[in-house]
Amino acid sequence: MRLLEMLREWELETRPIHPASRAALERRWAELPEHVQTPNQLLGRSAIGCEGTHGVFPKCDLTCSPCYHSADANKVRVDGEHTRGQVDAQMQLLHELRGPRAHAQLIGGEVSLLSADDHAAALQTMRRHGREPMSMTHGDFDADYLRDVVLDADGVPRFDRVSFAAHFDSLMRGRRGAVRPRSEAELDPFRARFAQMFVDLERDHGVRSYLAHNMTVTPSNLGEVASTTRAVLDMPFDMLSFQPAAFVGDDRRWKEDFTEVSIDRVWERIEEGAGQRLSWQGTQFGDPRCNRYATGLRVDGRFVALVDAADPRDRAARDRLLAHHGGMIFGGTSKPVLMTKIIRAVARHPLDVGVLVAHVRRMVRRAGGLSRVFSAARRRRIRSSSFVVHNFMDAAQVAPAWELMERGARSDDPLLRETQERLGACMYAMSHPGTGRLVPACVQHSVLDPAENIELRRMLPLLAGSSITARPSGLTEVRPTGRPERSRL
Ligand code: SF4
Repeated sequence: MRLLEMLREWELETRPIHPASRAALERRWAELPEHVQTPNQLLGRSAIGCEGTHGVFPKCDLTCSPCYHSADANKVRVDGEHTRGQVDAQMQLLHELRGPRAHAQLIGGEVSLLSADDHAAALQTMRRHGREPMSMTHGDFDADYLRDVVLDADGVPRFDRVSFAAHFDSLMRGRRGAVRPRSEAELDPFRARFAQMFVDLERDHGVRSYLAHNMTVTPSNLGEVASTTRAVLDMPFDMLSFQPAAFVGDDRRWKEDFTEVSIDRVWERIEEGAGQRLSWQGTQFGDPRCNRYATGLRVDGRFVALVDAADPRDRAARDRLLAHHGGMIFGGTSKPVLMTKIIRAVARHPLDVGVLVAHVRRMVRRAGGLSRVFSAARRRRIRSSSFVVHNFMDAAQVAPAWELMERGARSDDPLLRETQERLGACMYAMSHPGTGRLVPACVQHSVLDPAENIELRRMLPLLAGSSITARPSGLTEVRPTGRPERSRL
């Protein structure tokens, strides 16, 4: 009997697509608005979407203009027990509603304000719920902190791989060594130093990493997007992500007219920096007014898209492989299980091997031919590479649009109608275990964060004896006198 059970478990575990993943994807697809049920749509076909935490550690020790956190966020104490409990509850609900596997961001204020042990515990909790966690940081921490997160007290790795997204841009104030950067280029050594910590981590401890570089774009640094892209592409980051600024969060930090920076203008500047066209139309997450996404390989300095939307053979291969294998999970799976999954997938669709081989051949051709690929591989000049623009919306449009959606009403106003369409196709969800609901991150930041942070401020007041420090920006920073914090300014 026990043997039969074990065989059943093995059969389920090695199915190319787990039934729970398949069911979650089908639900996701059915819930998507028609306008995004396009052939290039990945939501509901191979991905469930991105997830993020909220209210788990709202405080940050840098001051950015703009900042999407509400004014009370910095008055909430960072509390490891609260973080761990909330992360657990939020991930549990995400697991229930969105299936066994997804990417999730450990995001709040600044993640490195958590103690290393609390940070590691939060990541382990996310993994336990089938989430592939990514820690969102301003990147201003030292290698000691990183090692303490990744290694346990005996120096043994707690993880075989980690993902971090580091936000670097000249709109940020208070970074050690670059308190008030006057240009994006001034931050390049800090970007390189951050990425190098992870190269060293792998060399010394065998822990691999996936690194994203984030940058907020306003009229004041739009002109530097191309040069920043160029600089960061030479560093060991896997993803370059840009966020055009929106009027959301703390309105004391809205210093420019963000409407001048559109998703298309940012993408043009990224292409200028990359020195080539970046085909994004082959793959889409959610609504194209929210997201641009191009993924592929960087071979000897040249980006080769996984799907070139201009090539009908690429599009046909995408459609076929998504239809047959979308939802297959490769990460977090042991080698024997993964190999068995692949064998079973091939057995079910043997002709797909030819489709895949032809697709790889086209990618090799686009990369400059086989000898160039081999030469790049020898010199370790091949790596995964993705470009992203995520276009958050203004609170002034999200709040009324969401209010109507909550009443089941559609707006006649063109902007609010567009907002409702985008919220309906949202690819970035936050979880509310108290109500059993998921909400788009735009709604979280535009509508729910202010009240949530007032409540958190009551629950987790700063420690007794806090001092108030005036910052040059005119903002005030409340700091507990009982715990020394590193000086930023
Ligand atoms: S969070 Fe906002 S901008 Fe991002 S996908 Fe969702 S609705 Fe679109």
